[in-house]
Amino acid sequence: MFEGPVQDLIDELGRLPGVGPKSAQRIAFHLLAADPVDVTRLQEVLQKVKDGVRFCEVCGNVSERERCRYCADPRRDPTIVCVVEEPKDVLAVERTREFKGRYHVLGGALDPLAGVGPDALRIRELLARLGGTGPASDETEIAIGIQRALRGRAITACFLEGHGELPMDNFEYHTHLESGAGHSHDDASSQVVEMPGHGAGRLRRALEAQGYEARKLVLATEGDVPTGCTLLVAANPRTTFLPAESAALRAYLRRGGSALLLLDLGFVLEPGLARLVAELGVRPEQEVVVDPLSHYSTNPEIVAVTGYDPHPITRSVSLTFYPGIRPLTMLPPAGDLRVTPLLLSSRDSYTRPVKPVGSHAVEPDPEGGKDAAAPPVPGPRVLGVAVEGRLDGDAQPMRAVVVGDSDFASNSFFPYMANSDLLLSAARWLAREERTTAVAGRVPVAPLIALTGRQSNAGCRTSGRSCCAA
Ligand SMILES: [Zn+2]
Repeated sequence: MFEGPVQDLIDELGRLPGVGPKSAQRIAFHLLAADPVDVTRLQEVLQKVKDGVRFCEVCGNVSERERCRYCADPRRDPTIVCVVEEPKDVLAVERTREFKGRYHVLGGALDPLAGVGPDALRIRELLARLGGTGPASDETEIAIGIQRALRGRAITACFLEGHGELPMDNFEYHTHLESGAGHSHDDASSQVVEMPGHGAGRLRRALEAQGYEARKLVLATEGDVPTGCTLLVAANPRTTFLPAESAALRAYLRRGGSALLLLDLGFVLEPGLARLVAELGVRPEQEVVVDPLSHYSTNPEIVAVTGYDPHPITRSVSLTFYPGIRPLTMLPPAGDLRVTPLLLSSRDSYTRPVKPVGSHAVEPDPEGGKDAAAPPVPGPRVLGVAVEGRLDGDAQPMRAVVVGDSDFASNSFFPYMANSDLLLSAARWLAREERTTAVAGRVPVAPLIALTGRQSNAGCRTSGRSCCAA
């Protein structure tokens, strides 16, 4: 204990957030030794802050005037309101440079144990404000803001482009899948061949509805995966990577990155990329899985998955389906990586070879082909894995999800059954926030396929509109 004013100063400083007793003492003695002019300036600034700074009358942000700069800026969209906890969260969102709407600062988070109920926060003001701004601000936008505010960090999904990937700006889709039902003259494989995936716009919008940012990443020009990429999405690369791109991807994972690798039929892995994927514990085969037991409609090459091994990604996911999927052969992974098979085909499934080409073409087996001597052996095939751990001793812990299909993530198939659940769950796990709850991405969709009874029982729970015709 020091005498009088010195101890008072230490006590006051010690009440500031993040200042412990030792720091308080150090600051106090620094001020005692400081030039009186400096101390006076500090004194004036403190006084000004209390006299001159107030809270914005609209949004509750700190402000020098009645309205803060965001509420006063006519270029900012008043129909989108981002709800945040504290003024510092406004700065965090502003740093992303992506949000062009307005804010609402609650002044804290609900904490029933600490007695912080809705009345203690600026929720009444929020409701009044929304009532006054007309129908344009909808609940989805508010939910996004709340997700961001609760998260306290920006999450950016970087969509890899430059190899013919599904573009994140493309929102086209097929409304109707020509299933085998009533089209028995169709070549079974042609259904898969003729389903170009279009874009990944719906996946992107669903991620944005979780409050994620989405941006394009062209590795060939950027050289490196930016540190701001929380997760990297490679959705259906068709043309081969440059060795430097594969190296950049590996460096990103070594730094503790997260990657969703959707490597569809026919895609040829550049040797460096093949080595990296082998380090992740799998080898995508140049084959397509045929599942006579568990498939969509009448097409055994649209594999349906109804049950999953326990993993945070698949915990609450029901039926998912994959139009044309390649099997993954499990290999011993590198470092201390743990590889969990997420998706398996049924015990009756088998594979047939496909041409390794830059197109989606599935080659019908020409009368048994040259592999006729080795008939396909039925058995469950691994279709997708989750990988977690370090690539080597010096690396940071990384995460990856590898799936031998991308169509299920494309605009045409994303909204159906539990495909979107699986993808959003994978994205949350990759972003290391599997414990948070999701905002349902609402994509209005038309009926897709008539299912057999067994399959519709498994799937109707989540997507009743699309499957109850059988
Ligand atoms: Zn304001």
